[in-house]
Amino acid sequence: MARENYVHLVGRIIEIEAINDISDIITLEVVRRNGKRDFPRVVIYESFKKCKDCSVNDFVFIKGIMASRGKRQIIECDICGETRVIEGFETVVNAIDLVKLSENLDFQDLKEISNQVFILGVVCRKVKYRKLASGVSNAQYQLAINRKLHVYEENDKKSDYVFITSLSNQADEDFKRLDVGSQCFINGGIQNRKIVREIRCDNCSSIIKLSEQATEICTYNVEYLNNCKF
Ligand SMILES: [Zn+2]
Repeated sequence: MARENYVHLVGRIIEIEAINDISDIITLEVVRRNGKRDFPRVVIYESFKKCKDCSVNDFVFIKGIMASRGKRQIIECDICGETRVIEGFETVVNAIDLVKLSENLDFQDLKEISNQVFILGVVCRKVKYRKLASGVSNAQYQLAINRKLHVYEENDKKSDYVFITSLSNQADEDFKRLDVGSQCFINGGIQNRKIVREIRCDNCSSIIKLSEQATEICTYNVEYLNNCKF
């Protein structure tokens, strides 16, 4: 099957953290066409570890792929102090290359080049369609993307899963054309959204609120390919 998964980011480093011996993760501030700022997390592998030469506030160019990675969090109950491990997934960018830019840039000038994603995938969950409070249509679905680049710790990984969100006419069209198994090509940008999950404490049954950052792709344009409804 054809494969495409390309992410192009130009932005400012907000945070650099070491996640293990072979990789670091950086949080980048980028801007979308509509002026909105987002904060994708980018995994940098030891193969080049170029972020060693970078510091917070540096502007960088990153070429990468969208990827999903396992995430482990320890939460503590405010009421009884019981701790619990929560296993989940987060959507990140795996960097293929990173170049430090020599000067500070103005986000106003970066709208067209700061946050760009091109992915080809297959819809793997039924499209959820609704009207937002503003009356604008919204479609959400999940896409499976075939891996074309492998990194050390994930050598046998075949697919990545990302969430897609469309608005307005694009949402109407996505809902009409896409079903589980439909292949499509997406031109979009990374979008972050704060979500709060409610988890029940195993010990005292009180509700623990867990704040997380959800990462999805908002669409600029969707091309409908195999198995779409025409
Ligand atoms: Zn508790």
